[in-house]
Amino acid sequence: MGAWESSEPGRFGFNGRDVPLLTRFAPSPTGYLHLGHVVNAVCTWGLARARGGHVLLRIEDHDRSRCRPEYEAALLEDLAWLGFEPDAGPVRQQDAGTAYADALTRLSATAHVYACDCSRRTLAAATTAVQADGIEAPYPGTCRNRGLEPGPGRGLRVVLPPGVERFHDDRLGPQAQTPATQCGDLLLRDRDGHWTYQFAVTVDDLRHNISLVVRGEDLLASTGRQLRLARMLGRTTPPAFFHHALIRHASGQKLSKSAGDTGVRTLRAAGASPESVIGRAASLIGLLEPGRPLAAREVASLFGG
Ligand code: GLU
Repeated sequence: MGAWESSEPGRFGFNGRDVPLLTRFAPSPTGYLHLGHVVNAVCTWGLARARGGHVLLRIEDHDRSRCRPEYEAALLEDLAWLGFEPDAGPVRQQDAGTAYADALTRLSATAHVYACDCSRRTLAAATTAVQADGIEAPYPGTCRNRGLEPGPGRGLRVVLPPGVERFHDDRLGPQAQTPATQCGDLLLRDRDGHWTYQFAVTVDDLRHNISLVVRGEDLLASTGRQLRLARMLGRTTPPAFFHHALIRHASGQKLSKSAGDTGVRTLRAAGASPESVIGRAASLIGLLEPGRPLAAREVASLFGG
Protein backbone atom coordinates (compact mmCIF):
# COMPACT_ATOMS: atom_id res chain seq x y z
CA MET A 1 0.00 0.00 0.00
CA GLY A 2 1.21 3.48 -0.76
CA ALA A 3 1.89 6.03 1.94
CA TRP A 4 -0.82 8.63 1.97
CA GLU A 5 -0.46 12.02 3.46
CA SER A 6 -2.24 15.32 3.22
CA SER A 7 -1.23 17.46 0.25
CA GLU A 8 -3.59 20.16 1.49
CA PRO A 9 -5.28 20.30 4.88
CA GLY A 10 -8.00 17.70 5.00
CA ARG A 11 -7.13 16.26 1.61
CA PHE A 12 -5.36 13.14 0.51
CA GLY A 13 -2.58 12.94 -2.00
CA PHE A 14 -0.50 9.98 -3.05
CA ASN A 15 2.91 10.39 -1.39
CA GLY A 16 2.12 14.07 -1.17
CA ARG A 17 1.23 14.39 -4.85
CA ASP A 18 -2.23 14.68 -6.29
CA VAL A 19 -3.09 11.56 -8.24
CA PRO A 20 -4.54 11.72 -11.78
CA LEU A 21 -7.66 9.86 -10.73
CA LEU A 22 -8.80 8.73 -7.33
CA THR A 23 -11.79 6.52 -6.69
CA ARG A 24 -12.95 4.64 -3.64
CA PHE A 25 -14.26 1.24 -2.67
CA ALA A 26 -16.69 2.09 0.12
CA PRO A 27 -18.43 -0.91 1.67
CA SER A 28 -20.53 -0.71 4.82
CA PRO A 29 -19.64 -3.48 7.29
CA THR A 30 -23.25 -4.44 7.95
CA GLY A 31 -22.90 -7.96 6.54
CA TYR A 32 -20.54 -10.24 4.64
CA LEU A 33 -19.17 -9.46 1.21
CA HIS A 34 -21.44 -10.81 -1.55
CA LEU A 35 -21.46 -10.90 -5.34
CA GLY A 36 -22.98 -7.40 -5.46
CA HIS A 37 -19.86 -6.06 -3.73
CA VAL A 38 -17.68 -8.03 -6.14
CA VAL A 39 -19.45 -6.33 -9.06
CA ASN A 40 -18.67 -2.98 -7.42
CA ALA A 41 -15.02 -3.97 -6.90
CA VAL A 42 -14.71 -5.14 -10.52
CA CYS A 43 -16.00 -1.77 -11.78
CA THR A 44 -14.04 0.31 -9.24
CA TRP A 45 -10.66 -1.34 -9.78
CA GLY A 46 -11.39 -1.89 -13.47
CA LEU A 47 -12.06 1.79 -14.18
CA ALA A 48 -9.28 2.99 -11.87
CA ARG A 49 -6.63 0.74 -13.43
CA ALA A 50 -7.85 1.35 -16.99
CA ARG A 51 -7.52 5.12 -16.43
CA GLY A 52 -4.24 5.07 -14.48
CA GLY A 53 -5.98 5.88 -11.18
CA HIS A 54 -5.85 4.78 -7.57
CA VAL A 55 -8.33 3.20 -5.19
CA LEU A 56 -8.92 4.31 -1.61
CA LEU A 57 -10.57 1.75 0.68
CA ARG A 58 -13.11 3.51 2.86
CA ILE A 59 -15.08 1.63 5.48
CA GLU A 60 -18.50 3.29 5.65
CA ASP A 61 -19.35 2.57 9.26
CA HIS A 62 -21.22 5.83 9.95
CA ASP A 63 -24.18 3.93 11.41
CA ARG A 64 -22.75 2.39 14.57
CA SER A 65 -25.91 0.47 15.34
CA ARG A 66 -25.67 -1.64 12.15
CA CYS A 67 -21.91 -2.07 11.67
CA ARG A 68 -19.88 -4.81 13.35
CA PRO A 69 -16.09 -5.25 13.66
CA GLU A 70 -16.37 -8.92 12.65
CA TYR A 71 -18.01 -7.90 9.36
CA GLU A 72 -15.22 -5.42 8.72
CA ALA A 73 -12.53 -8.03 9.41
CA ALA A 74 -14.29 -10.54 7.14
CA LEU A 75 -14.70 -7.93 4.44
CA LEU A 76 -10.99 -7.05 4.44
CA GLU A 77 -10.07 -10.72 4.37
CA ASP A 78 -12.43 -11.56 1.50
CA LEU A 79 -11.21 -8.57 -0.50
CA ALA A 80 -7.59 -9.67 -0.04
CA TRP A 81 -8.53 -13.26 -1.01
CA LEU A 82 -10.12 -11.95 -4.20
CA GLY A 83 -6.90 -10.04 -4.92
CA PHE A 84 -8.27 -6.48 -4.93
CA GLU A 85 -5.51 -4.34 -3.43
CA PRO A 86 -6.35 -0.77 -2.44
CA ASP A 87 -3.66 1.88 -2.93
CA ALA A 88 -4.62 3.53 0.35
CA GLY A 89 -6.70 2.88 3.42
CA PRO A 90 -8.59 1.51 5.06
CA VAL A 91 -9.96 4.76 6.43
CA ARG A 92 -13.04 4.56 8.63
CA GLN A 93 -15.95 6.95 8.96
CA GLN A 94 -16.05 6.27 12.69
CA ASP A 95 -12.64 7.99 12.93
CA ALA A 96 -13.87 11.06 11.07
CA GLY A 97 -16.21 12.63 13.64
CA THR A 98 -14.18 15.84 13.73
CA ALA A 99 -14.27 16.19 9.94
CA TYR A 100 -18.08 15.84 9.95
CA ALA A 101 -18.48 18.28 12.86
CA ASP A 102 -16.24 20.82 11.06
CA ALA A 103 -18.22 20.41 7.85
CA LEU A 104 -21.45 20.94 9.78
CA THR A 105 -20.08 24.16 11.29
CA ARG A 106 -19.09 25.40 7.82
CA LEU A 107 -22.46 24.50 6.38
CA SER A 108 -24.39 26.14 9.23
CA ALA A 109 -22.61 29.44 8.54
CA THR A 110 -24.14 29.76 5.07
CA ALA A 111 -27.18 27.46 4.94
CA HIS A 112 -30.32 26.88 7.01
CA VAL A 113 -29.44 23.90 9.21
CA TYR A 114 -32.09 23.02 11.78
CA ALA A 115 -33.05 20.45 14.39
CA CYS A 116 -35.86 18.04 13.55
CA ASP A 117 -37.74 15.67 15.85
CA CYS A 118 -39.78 13.87 13.19
CA SER A 119 -39.63 10.09 13.53
CA ARG A 120 -39.80 7.66 10.62
CA ARG A 121 -43.30 6.78 11.79
CA THR A 122 -44.68 10.34 11.86
CA LEU A 123 -43.04 11.04 8.50
CA ALA A 124 -44.46 7.90 6.95
CA ALA A 125 -47.92 8.87 8.19
CA ALA A 126 -47.52 12.40 6.82
CA THR A 127 -46.30 11.38 3.38
CA THR A 128 -47.57 7.94 2.27
CA ALA A 129 -51.09 9.11 1.60
CA VAL A 130 -49.88 11.35 -1.22
CA GLN A 131 -47.01 9.20 -2.47
CA ALA A 132 -47.21 6.71 -5.34
CA ASP A 133 -45.51 3.34 -4.85
CA GLY A 134 -41.76 3.34 -5.23
CA ILE A 135 -41.43 7.14 -5.42
CA GLU A 136 -39.37 8.78 -2.71
CA ALA A 137 -41.38 10.96 -0.33
CA PRO A 138 -39.68 14.34 0.15
CA TYR A 139 -39.41 15.64 3.69
CA PRO A 140 -42.43 17.94 4.07
CA GLY A 141 -40.55 20.63 6.00
CA THR A 142 -42.43 20.08 9.27
CA CYS A 143 -39.62 21.32 11.56
CA ARG A 144 -38.01 23.85 9.23
CA ASN A 145 -39.27 26.92 11.05
CA ARG A 146 -39.93 25.53 14.52
CA GLY A 147 -36.63 26.78 15.95
CA LEU A 148 -36.01 23.56 17.92
CA GLU A 149 -32.78 23.39 19.94
CA PRO A 150 -30.50 20.58 18.72
CA GLY A 151 -30.21 17.80 21.27
CA PRO A 152 -30.78 14.13 22.08
CA GLY A 153 -33.62 12.58 20.08
CA ARG A 154 -33.36 15.31 17.45
CA GLY A 155 -31.85 15.02 14.00
CA LEU A 156 -30.33 17.79 11.88
CA ARG A 157 -31.47 18.81 8.42
CA VAL A 158 -30.32 21.33 5.84
CA VAL A 159 -32.47 23.23 3.34
CA LEU A 160 -31.25 22.50 -0.20
CA PRO A 161 -31.61 25.40 -2.61
CA PRO A 162 -34.10 24.64 -5.43
CA GLY A 163 -32.95 23.96 -8.98
CA VAL A 164 -31.65 21.24 -11.27
CA GLU A 165 -28.39 19.35 -10.79
CA ARG A 166 -27.01 18.14 -14.12
CA PHE A 167 -24.23 15.62 -14.42
CA HIS A 168 -22.88 13.10 -16.87
CA ASP A 169 -22.85 9.48 -15.84
CA ASP A 170 -20.08 7.59 -17.66
CA ARG A 171 -22.40 4.65 -18.26
CA LEU A 172 -25.91 6.13 -18.30
CA GLY A 173 -25.26 9.44 -20.03
CA PRO A 174 -26.60 12.91 -19.15
CA GLN A 175 -28.67 13.16 -15.96
CA ALA A 176 -30.81 15.92 -14.46
CA GLN A 177 -32.14 15.77 -10.90
CA THR A 178 -33.99 18.24 -8.67
CA PRO A 179 -32.83 17.32 -5.15
CA ALA A 180 -34.91 19.91 -3.29
CA THR A 181 -38.12 18.40 -4.63
CA GLN A 182 -36.91 14.76 -4.64
CA CYS A 183 -35.83 14.51 -1.02
CA GLY A 184 -36.62 17.90 0.50
CA ASP A 185 -34.47 19.16 3.39
CA LEU A 186 -31.61 16.67 3.64
CA LEU A 187 -31.02 14.77 6.89
CA LEU A 188 -27.41 15.24 8.02
CA ARG A 189 -27.54 13.53 11.40
CA ASP A 190 -30.29 11.20 12.56
CA ARG A 191 -32.21 11.26 15.83
CA ASP A 192 -29.78 8.74 17.36
CA GLY A 193 -26.81 11.01 16.63
CA HIS A 194 -25.45 9.05 13.61
CA TRP A 195 -24.16 11.03 10.65
CA THR A 196 -26.23 10.00 7.66
CA TYR A 197 -24.93 8.23 4.57
CA GLN A 198 -25.64 11.30 2.39
CA PHE A 199 -23.70 13.68 4.63
CA ALA A 200 -20.77 11.40 5.50
CA VAL A 201 -20.20 10.30 1.90
CA THR A 202 -20.34 13.88 0.58
CA VAL A 203 -17.90 15.18 3.20
CA ASP A 204 -15.59 12.21 2.60
CA ASP A 205 -15.61 12.42 -1.20
CA LEU A 206 -14.71 16.11 -0.83
CA ARG A 207 -11.98 15.79 1.80
CA HIS A 208 -10.50 12.68 0.15
CA ASN A 209 -10.45 14.53 -3.17
CA ILE A 210 -12.29 11.67 -4.90
CA SER A 211 -12.45 12.36 -8.63
CA LEU A 212 -14.46 9.32 -9.75
CA VAL A 213 -17.38 7.75 -7.87
CA VAL A 214 -18.21 4.19 -8.93
CA ARG A 215 -21.32 2.69 -7.37
CA GLY A 216 -24.51 0.80 -8.12
CA GLU A 217 -27.36 2.41 -10.04
CA ASP A 218 -29.57 2.04 -6.95
CA LEU A 219 -27.69 5.12 -5.68
CA LEU A 220 -28.24 7.21 -8.81
CA ALA A 221 -30.93 9.33 -7.13
CA SER A 222 -28.46 10.24 -4.36
CA THR A 223 -26.04 11.87 -6.75
CA GLY A 224 -27.92 15.14 -7.36
CA ARG A 225 -28.28 15.84 -3.65
CA GLN A 226 -24.65 14.93 -2.99
CA LEU A 227 -23.51 17.27 -5.78
CA ARG A 228 -25.64 20.08 -4.34
CA LEU A 229 -24.44 19.49 -0.79
CA ALA A 230 -20.82 19.28 -1.95
CA ARG A 231 -21.14 22.67 -3.64
CA MET A 232 -22.64 24.12 -0.45
CA LEU A 233 -19.57 22.75 1.37
CA GLY A 234 -17.24 24.53 -1.05
CA ARG A 235 -16.48 21.86 -3.64
CA THR A 236 -15.72 23.58 -6.94
CA THR A 237 -14.97 20.58 -9.21
CA PRO A 238 -17.42 17.69 -8.87
CA PRO A 239 -16.25 14.09 -9.30
CA ALA A 240 -17.14 12.02 -12.36
CA PHE A 241 -19.72 9.25 -11.87
CA PHE A 242 -20.19 5.70 -13.07
CA HIS A 243 -23.30 3.92 -11.79
CA HIS A 244 -23.01 0.26 -12.64
CA ALA A 245 -25.78 -2.29 -13.19
CA LEU A 246 -26.97 -4.38 -10.25
CA ILE A 247 -27.34 -8.12 -10.02
CA ARG A 248 -31.00 -8.89 -9.66
CA HIS A 249 -32.90 -11.96 -8.62
CA ALA A 250 -35.23 -13.51 -11.14
CA SER A 251 -37.97 -11.68 -9.23
CA GLY A 252 -36.30 -8.37 -10.16
CA GLN A 253 -35.26 -7.69 -6.56
CA LYS A 254 -31.85 -6.23 -5.82
CA LEU A 255 -29.27 -8.62 -4.39
CA SER A 256 -28.62 -7.88 -0.74
CA LYS A 257 -26.99 -9.45 2.25
CA SER A 258 -30.32 -9.75 4.03
CA ALA A 259 -31.81 -11.88 1.26
CA GLY A 260 -29.45 -14.81 1.97
CA ASP A 261 -27.56 -14.18 -1.25
CA THR A 262 -24.40 -15.67 -2.54
CA GLY A 263 -21.74 -14.58 -0.08
CA VAL A 264 -18.05 -14.67 -0.97
CA ARG A 265 -17.48 -16.73 2.19
CA THR A 266 -19.98 -19.36 1.08
CA LEU A 267 -18.45 -19.56 -2.40
CA ARG A 268 -14.96 -19.87 -0.88
CA ALA A 269 -16.10 -22.63 1.45
CA ALA A 270 -17.57 -24.47 -1.52
CA GLY A 271 -14.14 -24.45 -3.19
CA ALA A 272 -14.54 -21.57 -5.67
CA SER A 273 -11.38 -19.77 -6.82
CA PRO A 274 -11.06 -15.95 -6.68
CA GLU A 275 -10.96 -15.90 -10.49
CA SER A 276 -14.22 -17.84 -10.80
CA VAL A 277 -15.97 -15.51 -8.32
CA ILE A 278 -14.75 -12.38 -10.11
CA GLY A 279 -15.62 -13.86 -13.52
CA ARG A 280 -19.10 -14.74 -12.30
CA ALA A 281 -19.71 -11.25 -10.92
CA ALA A 282 -18.52 -9.64 -14.17
CA SER A 283 -20.69 -11.95 -16.28
CA LEU A 284 -23.78 -11.27 -14.15
CA ILE A 285 -23.77 -7.64 -15.31
CA GLY A 286 -22.83 -8.52 -18.87
CA LEU A 287 -19.16 -7.48 -18.80
CA LEU A 288 -17.84 -10.98 -19.52
CA GLU A 289 -19.05 -14.20 -21.12
CA PRO A 290 -20.49 -16.59 -18.53
CA GLY A 291 -18.10 -19.30 -17.33
CA ARG A 292 -14.90 -17.30 -17.94
CA PRO A 293 -12.61 -16.79 -14.94
CA LEU A 294 -10.95 -13.41 -14.39
CA ALA A 295 -8.18 -12.37 -11.99
CA ALA A 296 -8.39 -9.11 -10.04
CA ARG A 297 -5.27 -7.82 -11.84
CA GLU A 298 -7.07 -8.28 -15.18
CA VAL A 299 -10.24 -6.27 -14.51
CA ALA A 300 -8.97 -3.17 -16.37
CA SER A 301 -9.40 -5.21 -19.59
CA LEU A 302 -13.20 -4.98 -19.11
CA PHE A 303 -12.94 -1.18 -19.42
CA GLY A 304 -10.53 -0.91 -22.31
CA GLY A 305 -7.39 -0.95 -20.13
N1 GLU B 1 -21.42 2.45 1.58
C1 GLU B 1 -22.33 2.35 0.49
C2 GLU B 1 -22.78 0.92 0.31
O1 GLU B 1 -22.18 0.01 0.84
C3 GLU B 1 -21.72 2.84 -0.82
C4 GLU B 1 -21.78 4.28 -0.88
C5 GLU B 1 -21.30 4.94 -2.14
O2 GLU B 1 -20.58 4.32 -2.94
O3 GLU B 1 -21.62 6.10 -2.30
O4 GLU B 1 -23.77 0.72 -0.36
